[in-house]
Amino acid sequence: MSEAAEKTGRELYEQLRVKFDGTLSPENIAVIDKAFNLANEAHGDQKRKSGEPYIIHPVAVASILFDELGMDMPSIAAALLHDVVEDTHYEINEIKDLFGDEIALLVDGVTKINRVQITSREEQQAENLRKMLIAMSRDIRVIIIKLADRVHNIRTLQYVPEEKRRMTAKETLEIYAPIAHRLGIRAFKEELEDKSISFLDPVAYKDIEQRLEQQEPQRKEFLHSVQSRISERVHESVKDAKIDGRIKSVHGIYRKMYIGGKSFDEIYDIYAVRIIVDTVVDCYNCLGIVHDMFHSIPGRFKDYISTPKPNMYQSLHTTLLGRDGIPFEVQIRTWEMHKNAEYGIAAHWKYKMGRQDRDVDNRLLWIRQMLESQQESGNAGDIVQDIKSDLVPEEVYVLTPKGTVICLPMGATVIDFAYAIHSAVGNKMTGAKVDGRIVPIDYQVKTGEIVEILTSSQPGKGPSRDWLKIVKTSAARAKIRSWFKKEKREENISEGKSEFERELRKSNIRLDDEQMSKLLETLSEKQRQNSVDDFYAAIGYGGISVARLMPQIRDEYNKMQASSQNNVAEIKLTKPKRSSGEGIIVEGIDNCLVKLSKCCSPIPGDDVIGFITRGHGVSVHKRDCPNVPADITTCAEPERWINVRWEETENKGFNATLAISCIDRMSLLADVSVALANMHVMIHNVNTRDPKDGTLLIYMTIAVNNAEHLKGIIAKLMKINGILKIDRSGS
Ligand code: MN
Repeated sequence: MSEAAEKTGRELYEQLRVKFDGTLSPENIAVIDKAFNLANEAHGDQKRKSGEPYIIHPVAVASILFDELGMDMPSIAAALLHDVVEDTHYEINEIKDLFGDEIALLVDGVTKINRVQITSREEQQAENLRKMLIAMSRDIRVIIIKLADRVHNIRTLQYVPEEKRRMTAKETLEIYAPIAHRLGIRAFKEELEDKSISFLDPVAYKDIEQRLEQQEPQRKEFLHSVQSRISERVHESVKDAKIDGRIKSVHGIYRKMYIGGKSFDEIYDIYAVRIIVDTVVDCYNCLGIVHDMFHSIPGRFKDYISTPKPNMYQSLHTTLLGRDGIPFEVQIRTWEMHKNAEYGIAAHWKYKMGRQDRDVDNRLLWIRQMLESQQESGNAGDIVQDIKSDLVPEEVYVLTPKGTVICLPMGATVIDFAYAIHSAVGNKMTGAKVDGRIVPIDYQVKTGEIVEILTSSQPGKGPSRDWLKIVKTSAARAKIRSWFKKEKREENISEGKSEFERELRKSNIRLDDEQMSKLLETLSEKQRQNSVDDFYAAIGYGGISVARLMPQIRDEYNKMQASSQNNVAEIKLTKPKRSSGEGIIVEGIDNCLVKLSKCCSPIPGDDVIGFITRGHGVSVHKRDCPNVPADITTCAEPERWINVRWEETENKGFNATLAISCIDRMSLLADVSVALANMHVMIHNVNTRDPKDGTLLIYMTIAVNNAEHLKGIIAKLMKINGILKIDRSGS
């Protein structure tokens, strides 16, 4: 380290340090000393572009914060350390160990902002960047330190090479000056703007400067005379009014000339007279006085006291005509408003909270209080909302590896990020890295993170349907759906078909083929699909939600049920009574036609299952009937098999057909008849068959009460001589 460097840096610091006495406690000064010593040692021989020792820069930033904004000890210490982590071997954890959480948080915040590369030129990007930088500064002091850093850098920008100089100036004009404006720090805003313009458009800047310099004595004289005339009149009725005059900032004039398209002479507010008084009432009194003294220009009066600007600026503005018709602007405000106008959010440290240290957790308390007092005043809803959304953002700002800011809603995932870049990136995405580390696919991004999307060039690889449940933005969802729509038609159709059927089953809606195709046609048409396949495909890729269609489906279903019930009623009348299947309860369906199937003729007590027939209600089979598939879940139409059970009531008689195999002997049939008669069992029908093997087969339909009853009957009959075997027919 050179002797000269050590001396210059330390000298500058000593100049600042003497001003601490009386405002900062010895303990606080000791912390700041420690910060200076560390920074001085850490930056060592590093030089700025100007050739000066690097340590000059952090000391200058600390001075700006203390002298111009009256910031607190942690801000000053953090300003001294602000480039240490970025530019020297120190790590943030060492700063934390040496200086504690609060200062480390501030240093870390500034370091992170410095790592954001600002490359984009679009206005939308600039707005996002501003929001992101503010959002990144969880402690608002971070952004205030960063602004002071930028103020010093732009003051010394002439030493930087041309290209870098223009870039920094542009970034300052687009990003940092608006932030200073947003936070209401007028002093920073005007300096940042003026200096930026002087580097970006030196010719125009010089031109304005020269015009202002021309007739400078006359201008000063004019301003002075207006000022003293106003002063005289105001002091007659208003005590303690301070009146001063100034010429507006070069940038303000530049903007009006080059963006507003006005000529230099058309700009009214080159001159500004400011009246600062004690009370709001005095403000309006002064307004009356100046309007009485000068002609005012119509349409130029603005009451920012009753309607403050979004950055909480308050004042009365009016433009008057002075001697020789020269216009000048008058700004009238209270001292309180003046502090806010000059220092904005930083005014808090300068005036309100004094110099005591505060709890880190309470660092934003004052903002909350400010918001509350604003709310009470009732007319500042938008302002409150603005500041709130800056401090508690509903959006996150994330960076691509190239430094483009992507704005996403809170809770957005890396998938949303990928689709926000481009659908092709999302569709090829295989994973993501956040700040260099691999993260899960549902990782929710946070402000300031750098997100890199890993992609695969393999064809056929695409988004997963599960992503639809993960993504937060509707844009990403729409893009994923559109991929499925285009790329996976076959899959969509089968996916859609099974989803449709699943939903119907869930809602206990059962239709035969004819009804189903009628329903599908109706729905496809109503959903403006060209075919049933298109309808299924739309369900598959998520374009149509079956759940949302359910009311409509139910309507159609009820209509169909009503008409099929009518058919059933007619059939019922023409069929003999015994074929109607009372005594069966079909799960989930009331009032439907039930038939006991002829193939196995189930009787109460039998284990049974129902089958939804085409247009003829439910036919009931015994579970072990050969017509019932062994495993319903894997059969062709599982949805048509439904649970049925016997009603609990006493039954009047069911038909069971017995196949009695016996030795063909005389009077056997009579013996059987007698036995049944003794048991009070009615015989409905008898048939015999001769298998020509010396045996006889008797088919006999009898009336039984239930399976138990039948079992008893069969047992008795088996005792008859010559009977070999009795089976239930059809089983
Ligand atoms: Mn710096």
